[in-house]
Amino acid sequence: MSTKPLKPIKQPQKKISIEDTESLKCEDCNNYSFIKSYFIRRISAILSPTGQETMIPIEVFSCGNCGKVPASMMPKGDG
Ligand SMILES: [Zn+2]
Repeated sequence: MSTKPLKPIKQPQKKISIEDTESLKCEDCNNYSFIKSYFIRRISAILSPTGQETMIPIEVFSCGNCGKVPASMMPKGDG
């Protein structure tokens, strides 16, 4: 066990090349390009802290071809 005060951990600078990355592709049509879109979550006035109905935008990416949002980006709560 060390009694020395903890120093801030320096993350070693890892160089990542594009070959090490993985393309996300649409599960439905195998398209590789995505467009930014938003889910809008609505909070009813009863549950909202302000007492007013509130819209909360959640930024996601949807397939630029078929519009499907990858399951990993789907906000939870819609079952
Ligand atoms: Zn698609």
